Amino acid sequence: MSMNLIQFQPGLSMPEFLRKYGTESRCRRALYRARWPMGFRCPACGDRRRSSFRRGAQTIYQCRACQHQSTLISGTLLQDTKLPLTTWFMAIHLLTSTKTNMAALELKRHLGISYRAAWRSNMTRSCKR
Ligand SMILES: [Zn+2]
Repeated sequence: MSMNLIQFQPGLSMPEFLRKYGTESRCRRALYRARWPMGFRCPACGDRRRSSFRRGAQTIYQCRACQHQSTLISGTLLQDTKLPLTTWFMAIHLLTSTKTNMAALELKRHLGISYRAAWRSNMTRSCKR
């Protein structure tokens, strides 16, 4: 019987995942690099110059050209979330590292979030296919 190489692709183990994305600041840095790989770019005008300030727990990025204010998650699927990024990153990891679909109830148990939030994140995955 031949070995299916697709099934044996290296994945990110849970210890590796936690080392890379185990804190809010690590998730924020990873998301920042993914969203703006060449550095900040204003979503309204494309200018790269910005200032930043804190509003509560959020960092607000303000474009120096047009004064548009954005956050790391504004305009993304995570825009209105109340969950920490660590929970989202863990959900994405769990959903993408399983060979079979993960039920919302299973996700709820793994992440300690509400069924509704788990269902929504599972729907987010389904919609991206
Ligand atoms: Zn701008």
